[in-house]
Amino acid sequence: MSKQICIRCVCDDTFPAINFDDKGVCAYCRLQDILDKEYPTGLEGERRLQVIVERMKAHGKDKKFDCVTGISGGRDSTYTLWLLKKKYGLNPLAVHFNDGFGNPTAGENMQKACRTLGVEKRTITSDWRESKDLKIAFLKASVPELEQGTDLGIASALYGVAAKEDIKYVVIGQSFRTEGIAPLEWNFLDGRYLKKVHQMYGQVALRKWSPSDPGFNLSTSHMAYYLVWKGIRTVTPLYNLDYARNEAEEIIVSQLGWENTGAHYYDDLYQSLMTYILRVKFNIDRRKLNYAALVRAGQMTRDEALERISEVSIIEDPKVINLCIKRLGLSREEFEEFMVLPLKTFRDYPTSFTFIRALKLPIWTLTKLGILPKSAYDKYFHCI
Ligand SMILES: [Zn+2]
Repeated sequence: MSKQICIRCVCDDTFPAINFDDKGVCAYCRLQDILDKEYPTGLEGERRLQVIVERMKAHGKDKKFDCVTGISGGRDSTYTLWLLKKKYGLNPLAVHFNDGFGNPTAGENMQKACRTLGVEKRTITSDWRESKDLKIAFLKASVPELEQGTDLGIASALYGVAAKEDIKYVVIGQSFRTEGIAPLEWNFLDGRYLKKVHQMYGQVALRKWSPSDPGFNLSTSHMAYYLVWKGIRTVTPLYNLDYARNEAEEIIVSQLGWENTGAHYYDDLYQSLMTYILRVKFNIDRRKLNYAALVRAGQMTRDEALERISEVSIIEDPKVINLCIKRLGLSREEFEEFMVLPLKTFRDYPTSFTFIRALKLPIWTLTKLGILPKSAYDKYFHCI
């Protein structure tokens, strides 16, 4: 199906607006090189991280917590929790967002990690009717962002808890070196987009935003409230570390009794259905993103990545796919109707895209001041 594959990673022309240089190296490899320079690892990375850790400690002095961190029971967030508590001696408050599709193995991982590390865990459970309605609305909208509600729900839960507890740091366990950065057309996260799609296709009213109970509301003005008014900073420690997945896994398996859920993102069972829909309907395979990043980082060979991509992901378990469809209250026939709808992207709906593009300079400034990660800037201004 694909015609050209990057000679350095495994990104191919199924990626929207991808381009290759004379040697055949793709735009995503070039973006990674830019980010590598922005976020050095090794001694310099450790030094930069230590500065942030000291700031977090100073902020948390005489307080119960010095940061909030998201936890899903997956590898990256579990390792980040270990890192914060065990390596850097911080007192994080672990926040889990539950939208009704959690993988039980990931649930146990979270319990074990928090218990062993002595970390308090707070679960924000979304309103099931809202959560289900949003998932169906995005299926009807026929766009790839099938977890828009969950993705924004996680972010708003983290900022909401930080605002409520007066904690200034939100730590996210992501790494562009192991996950890659998705093209905008594959995953455009935006509160206005969510609202508009829901207005068009939803049936249940979403509850209104309040600072400490944001629900599924996270517009640019809410972000401004958290980042500018409340002064909350987003920290991505893995950006400055030589984060090797295998080594991280060894640590959390031996010290926290962590169990592998079987695949990346499989801490969330809905990812099974989403992966299937993305592959069959949209010709999108997100493993290419992850593997491309791992290949560039020297954590996987290009041949191994290409071989894995040639097989259907094990996350597409028919039993789990059927369970997800059933849990949404849909019949298989109703679901199949969504599968043949004409393909759309966020560009077919009202979003904050034009507004965000107009804010190029302020967003760049926020990243320079360390308020937003640089990858947020690159996502909106380089991935198109
Ligand atoms: Zn490439």
